[in-house]
Amino acid sequence: MSTSEAAVVPLHDAVATFVADTVLPDVAAWDRDDVLPDEIWEQLVALGVPGALVPVEHGGAGRSVVDLVPVWRSLSQGWISLTGAVNPTGLATALLVRDGTPEQQARWLPRFAEGSAHAAFSITEPQAGSDLSRIATVGAPLPEGDGLVLDGRKRWVAGGVSAEVVFLLCRVEGELTCVVLPADGRDSESWQVEELDKIGYRGVESAAYVFTHHHATGAEILGGPEGVGRGARQMLGALGVGRINVACRALGIIDRALTAALDESTGREIGDGVLGDHTHVQLRVGALRARLMAAESLVERAARAVDADAENARELSTAAKVIASDTAVWAVDLAARLSASRSYRSDDELARLRRDAPQTQIGEGANDALLLALGRGEIADAE
Ligand SMILES: Cc1cc2nc3c(=O)[nH]c(=O)nc-3n(C[C@H](O)[C@H](O)[C@H](O)COP(=O)(O)OP(=O)(O)OC[C@H]3O[C@@H](n4cnc5c(N)ncnc54)[C@H](O)[C@@H]3O)c2cc1C
Repeated sequence: MSTSEAAVVPLHDAVATFVADTVLPDVAAWDRDDVLPDEIWEQLVALGVPGALVPVEHGGAGRSVVDLVPVWRSLSQGWISLTGAVNPTGLATALLVRDGTPEQQARWLPRFAEGSAHAAFSITEPQAGSDLSRIATVGAPLPEGDGLVLDGRKRWVAGGVSAEVVFLLCRVEGELTCVVLPADGRDSESWQVEELDKIGYRGVESAAYVFTHHHATGAEILGGPEGVGRGARQMLGALGVGRINVACRALGIIDRALTAALDESTGREIGDGVLGDHTHVQLRVGALRARLMAAESLVERAARAVDADAENARELSTAAKVIASDTAVWAVDLAARLSASRSYRSDDELARLRRDAPQTQIGEGANDALLLALGRGEIADAE
């Protein structure tokens, strides 16, 4: 058994207990109030979840992505916003480990490990989601490597209100480049921040930024000067980790939809028996279980490929994210049909899952856009 395998058992158990005892009893109120309470975030940090991927040599637990699949899935059975809130620091860890300079690694990774800093990961702009060629934010280098002047707009920056550092895709010398941007000067005239209101995935900060000639003296290019022009490859590479995180959110939602369907099947009296006596219900529950098993197998396989940096890691993590998220939306709809009017109360768990599940179809790439890219690649290979 590897060190990380030995370490993951207690973490998963601790997270499952945290979800059962602390999250599920109060999640409806947090969702209603659109708040992830500070003490809940502190408990996640104390459990070591946000910095779990930080390597041992940088003070972390050195867990692998596949180790974290059951952890992220359990968290998502409580609330996908918890899994989403820890994701950007995982993405930043992957970026730094693969592409950071030794100084950048030494500055941020130990802080991620101990939880004294967390990160945001910012690609999207108002006019640029899947299409990175439309990224327009510019970082103009200041003389003598003393930071950058930023102009442009960013959108949907998870954790972007309070993260200590933002990994930001912008154009440096015209080339797509990942900038490591400490949060100094955020929420000022030159770096304005707006928090976006959302229908679901509540409690996660989703920020919009406007940079107007913002002098970011502490900003650096990921990987040093040679990193200019490598930002798209670097940040898309890290998204493999993020797609597994999103797929785990979907698995947690499917788990809860199955639980709701079973509760309804066994507890709801219809005629002389219960709902689950009827074949249409048995068929639906069977289909739900079968698709859940298919999705969980694919997610685990994709996580192993991401850990191994395998050639097909991008394809597999894309497929896992798409299949798991589409299944989550379908599963919630199926469970809601069985529950009928009871799923329509605003404080019912299925009502929240109906609002949360579509986030998994959008986060880390809109499913349609991901399938387009996958299909194009297949066709090009066949030509
Ligand atoms: C709650 C939430 C949190 C998020 N968090 C973050 C974050 O932390 N950091 C971040 O950078 N982003 C974040 N995002 C943004 C998210 O990653 C993007 O929304 C996603 O990548 C899709 O981009 P888009 O919404 O602009 O849709 P688009 O990319 O514009 O896609 C819309 C549709 O256009 C079509 N389409 C796309 N590409 C093509 C093509 N090449 N050819 C033809 N048709 C095409 C598809 O049908 C697609 O469904 C978040 C989004 C949400 C909703």
